[in-house]
Amino acid sequence: MPVKEIIKLGDPILRKACLPVEEFSLLPPIIDDMFDAMYESEGVGLAANQVNLDMNLFILHIPGEDENDGGEPRIFVNSKIIATEGKSKDSEGCLSIPGVRLEITRPEIITLEYQDMDRNNHVEKFSGLTARAIQHETDHLNGVLITDKVSQVQKLQYKQDLKEIERQAMVRYSERQSGSV
Ligand SMILES: [Zn+2]
Repeated sequence: MPVKEIIKLGDPILRKACLPVEEFSLLPPIIDDMFDAMYESEGVGLAANQVNLDMNLFILHIPGEDENDGGEPRIFVNSKIIATEGKSKDSEGCLSIPGVRLEITRPEIITLEYQDMDRNNHVEKFSGLTARAIQHETDHLNGVLITDKVSQVQKLQYKQDLKEIERQAMVRYSERQSGSV
């Protein structure tokens, strides 16, 4: 099986609010594919709609964020941010917008309600890079991208790159719709 293609800015699936997961039995192979795609692109997080799946599901693996330092792969199903605190600004990239980095302001600490692969409910507090990554992936699942969160001025330097990414994404989208790939 080839590694799943990461969907790029310009493709309509990235603008969709994703549907809740109900069939948990379908998750294991989907999650394996998502980790493969994320690792191949050297990302630290991936939302399901970035691999063309309309599901409220994302994964993270942030090396160095865990006390043991290798970091820990994490899976979040049907998640929702229920509280936020503070504010921080940092540079973010996105696997769906390659080559682009933008300064994004977000809450510093978040409380997340989510389910695991076995449908158990959890409520957990996150800070630092993990909180930032969770908010980035949660945005994806609501159809929001980092380019929506900055001023036109900040995007100006990437104007041509963004246009080209969108152009190619639309070509790939049309190919998929016509079933030619
Ligand atoms: Zn992203």
